[in-house]
Amino acid sequence: MSLAVLGATGSIGRSTLDVVARHADRFKLFALTAHRSAERLLELCRAHHPHYAVLSGIGADAALERRFAEAGSELLFGAPALDQVVAHDRCTAVMAGIVGAAGLASTLAAVRAGKRVLLANKEALVMAGSLVMQAARDSGALLLPVDSEHNAVFQCFSEKKSIRKIVLTASGGPFRQTSPEKLSGVTPEQACAHPNWVMGRKISVDSATMMNKGLEVIEARWLFDLAPEAIEVVIHPQSIVHSMVEYLDGSVIAQLSNPDMRVPAIKNLSFEEPDLARFPCLELAYAALRAGRSAPTLLNAANEIAVEAFLAGRLGFTGIARVIGETMDELPTGPVGALAEVLAADGKARATAAALVMAQAA
Ligand code: NDP
Ligand code: MG
Repeated sequence: MSLAVLGATGSIGRSTLDVVARHADRFKLFALTAHRSAERLLELCRAHHPHYAVLSGIGADAALERRFAEAGSELLFGAPALDQVVAHDRCTAVMAGIVGAAGLASTLAAVRAGKRVLLANKEALVMAGSLVMQAARDSGALLLPVDSEHNAVFQCFSEKKSIRKIVLTASGGPFRQTSPEKLSGVTPEQACAHPNWVMGRKISVDSATMMNKGLEVIEARWLFDLAPEAIEVVIHPQSIVHSMVEYLDGSVIAQLSNPDMRVPAIKNLSFEEPDLARFPCLELAYAALRAGRSAPTLLNAANEIAVEAFLAGRLGFTGIARVIGETMDELPTGPVGALAEVLAADGKARATAAALVMAQAA
């Protein structure tokens, strides 16, 4: 397998490279990409020797190009280079590990080129689920979910039985037991300290607001072609059951594994309903899914703006859900059958959410 790792300098990228290094006989690295982390990408090229390296967020730089060439990698610049490497004849598989809406175009390019796509970038399906799934059907691309819950569902599927519903488990994040009054004072550092995993900052905040689970519900809708009512979320603080599938005959198949090898044994499994009053983002995601059309695109864009503002100290923690809800109320939904329509909806929601953030700060 000749693999392109998009977002190689991130949490998913690093884990991917760790796996690749242990199975050098099975994987060749075709390309590694980062946005602006030139030095970290160069370090990775020295260790892993991909054919191409891409810095999508900076313009051509001859000195950098020379340093990458010395490490044995050809360096390309700018976002279009991402599409170029994933669609290349010699690339067979793509890890879509870029965070947020910025990952949509390259994920879609990989799908359109018929590659094996390892999908971590859930936002691509949230923004443009029907477009991405249609492109996969047209090209024959294989979409393999990397998100642990969806991967678990995938592993629980039984071809012989019909599904009644799937259950995505959620850890509940760091504030599962925090009182509602204290939530408004939560800091970015507290929000990024996830009890069970170390991840990038954006998905860490999404986990803390439970928007991550909302995005995963929408991701599941597209990956598994299910109605919103057939996708349920339960809080499972131990994060040992990754997800479950309930069949029409009443049986349930679950996938379990230790989230962390340092946890010695499975002692106790508990499940509870999510508290939607405390975590309104989950309800907002369900509402967007039911509304359809561009509603999930608007939700995703407003969330990205609100999370960015929260991380920069410009918005309180509980302001995140408020900004998303108000953006959704303010904007009408439209069609999202083409990439241009998706990007237009995304842009409008970003502008609206940014104005709402400013108004909240004032
Ligand atoms: P990180 O923030 O750790 O890494 C993000 C990566 O994307 C970096 O390589 C970064 O490059 C690159 N990047 C950032 N902005 C852009 C941009 N505008 N254009 C191109 N590349 C960009 O994120 P994670 O690894 O945590 O998450 C990646 C995706 O995987 C997300 O969609 C997340 O929801 C999903 N996911 C993550 C899990 C995890 O355990 N982390 C689990 C399940 C899903 P640079 O270093 O130059 O900024
Ligand atoms: Mg997940």
